[in-house]
Amino acid sequence: MRRISITIISLSLLSCFAVNAQSNKKAPESALDKKVDALIAGQMTEVTLDVVSKSNTTPHQLDPAKLKDAIMKYHVGSILNVSGAAYDRSHWYDVISTIQNQAAKDRLKIPVIYGIDAIHGVTYTLGSTLFPQEIAMAATFNRDIVHHAGEITAYETRASYIPWNYSPVLDLGKSPLWPRVYETFGEDPYLDKTMGVSIITGYQGNNVGDKFHVAACMKHYLGYSYPLSGKDRTPAWIPDRYMREYFLPPFAESVKAGARTIMINSGEINGVPLHASHYMLTDVLRGELHFDGIAVTDWRDIEYLHDRHHIAATQKDAVMIAVNAGIDMSMVPYEYSFYNYLIELVHEGKVSMARINEAVHRILKVKYQLGLFERPVGNPDDYPKFGSEEFRKVSVQAATEAITLLKNKNNILPLKKDMKVFVTGPTANTMRSLDGGWSYTWQGEQSDKFAANKNTILKAIRQKIGEGNVSYEPGASFDSLQNVKDAVKAAEKADVIVLCLGELSYTENVGNIDDLNLPWAQTELANELAKTGKPIILVLAEGRPRIVTEAESHSAATIMTYLSGNEGGDALASILFGDANPSGKLPYTYPQYPNSLNNYYRKNLENGNPDDKHGYNPLYEFGFGLSYTTFSYSNLHLSKPNLKENETLTVTVDVKNTGQREGKESVLLYTSQLYASIAPDYKRLRAYDKIDLQPGETKTVTFKITSKDIAFVNDISKTVTEPGEFKILIGDQSQSFNYISDMASDRSGKL
Ligand code: BGC
Repeated sequence: MRRISITIISLSLLSCFAVNAQSNKKAPESALDKKVDALIAGQMTEVTLDVVSKSNTTPHQLDPAKLKDAIMKYHVGSILNVSGAAYDRSHWYDVISTIQNQAAKDRLKIPVIYGIDAIHGVTYTLGSTLFPQEIAMAATFNRDIVHHAGEITAYETRASYIPWNYSPVLDLGKSPLWPRVYETFGEDPYLDKTMGVSIITGYQGNNVGDKFHVAACMKHYLGYSYPLSGKDRTPAWIPDRYMREYFLPPFAESVKAGARTIMINSGEINGVPLHASHYMLTDVLRGELHFDGIAVTDWRDIEYLHDRHHIAATQKDAVMIAVNAGIDMSMVPYEYSFYNYLIELVHEGKVSMARINEAVHRILKVKYQLGLFERPVGNPDDYPKFGSEEFRKVSVQAATEAITLLKNKNNILPLKKDMKVFVTGPTANTMRSLDGGWSYTWQGEQSDKFAANKNTILKAIRQKIGEGNVSYEPGASFDSLQNVKDAVKAAEKADVIVLCLGELSYTENVGNIDDLNLPWAQTELANELAKTGKPIILVLAEGRPRIVTEAESHSAATIMTYLSGNEGGDALASILFGDANPSGKLPYTYPQYPNSLNNYYRKNLENGNPDDKHGYNPLYEFGFGLSYTTFSYSNLHLSKPNLKENETLTVTVDVKNTGQREGKESVLLYTSQLYASIAPDYKRLRAYDKIDLQPGETKTVTFKITSKDIAFVNDISKTVTEPGEFKILIGDQSQSFNYISDMASDRSGKL
């Protein structure tokens, strides 16, 4: 009852005010108008926890006076983030219940919606289950495990009394230069959209308002991941056609899946900051995609319209531009000028009450859907599985299915457990290179402290084969050699070298780089170790594919761990020593050279000339990954030679485990359109499935393809399927079919 009456009161007050404001802008303001004004501008305001906390206290403490101000004076609708490092559940309980108790004292008792970046598990809650980062989750090619990780993350987020998760990142990980590649599902739009939907449905469940689910936040809309310079939050040039062909589909599909909120790209596209783009925020997002949830800015992005993008002469203009473009909530995050300016702008008639009502309606609706009016704070006893062994095992499975075997000369892997193993390299003994950024802190720099009970690669190997079989020297830090002679000496005494290279944790602009090459010291360590003649198992732990061509030329085996999370060390050790069989496949193209960064969905080569690389000359291709067993593909069969509109083509292929042990195989279906009205991509992923096969076992994998699956965005930005010949490619199999359409001359995009 309480829930319903509050909502009705608030909405009816807002609409009374709207009529008043629209019919007579200059009418003297009543006291009620003023109260409602304040209330609504507050709903659209989001501040960071620091704003209501005591300065620099460890442990963190709320500041009751500042909190009172935030709620009673500014009526803030939302608070986000942590102040300092991760908290335990009981501190989160105190923080959230104190905030909600204060909100209950405000005039309309509207609960605050608290938001957090629980991007690979509940980043900021101690003892939570940390999963591999999104890039590694994509490498599993296993939607079920991604969905399950989403469910667990939602459970543990609610167990931290928080209902709103700033995840998933749906940006396309197209460029290895960009520091946030590890937060993405990789370079392929289809993989991105299917993984995105899987995790969102895990986060939100069937009822986002129950005590185990949270609102997802699709981010960062749109085109954030492909800045020209490769640097975070710098300008991008992306034509509308490309935007719609590659970047938009994951968002469009996630909107259809019911995602409740969206966060906007901090950058500018073709000179237009997204936060100022009425076209993107309203025409496309609302008009075309029919998104009805909350559009929240990213960090400080309205202010940046003034002081970074210089498209608003004043901060107040920035507020006007962003809200009129379609922003519902401003992640301000440090002070209240947004709130004050917004009220002034409404009084001046520069922001309409209709726009305000629309934004506040969306915010209150999501709060209502989340059950916040009924249950502003969860019950601590409702979450017995928080940080449980059951959840940990899912993270182990995800890491195991993500880790990707890229080279295995003479089947040197798996190693025998009685071998003498020398472990070295800068990523060997730190949790920072397994967890990455957004782990306990923003930059993940304290993972060795907070995940001290978890196994680094070194610890996991020691645990697996016994301390006596393992020697260790760091050999190098990330960018300088460290006692390399000691490393070489130790290597000489071992049977095999496990060389762990890669990156330290970073997030956002802190991860910007000027050189995609692995730092020189790491390559030099590989060169020195190679001189020993001992076999090198190269283990890469990194957020983006750094150029490792020289170091990798020395390896007998190469394994990519991405950022495989808290269980990544154990998962790797199981793979190294044969307790688990690798099944990950690359969710991006691994470049061989810094000047050849093309994606797999490049254009065709001239006359098929293999020397004409078009910037596509990878070390390892998208979708590549080995196993300890082998698979063969046969009998690719299409249900018909011609596909028509509204028909389905059934594609079957037999996959056989031709090796000696059980293994999982991700089966990837690509299509190629031979000729089209715009230069078609060389091939595109259209479907995938992951199967488990016993030695000698064969399974028939079935895919359904419709005309929509093979559509593209044409030169006038319309999605069309053009008639002509297509190829289906699965493994080493290929078959052709024709798409036949009566609408051959229609370019207007019926689909
Ligand atoms: C990031 C977002 C994040 C937000 C809140 C921003 O700097 O770009 O991805 O959700 O901070 O922490």
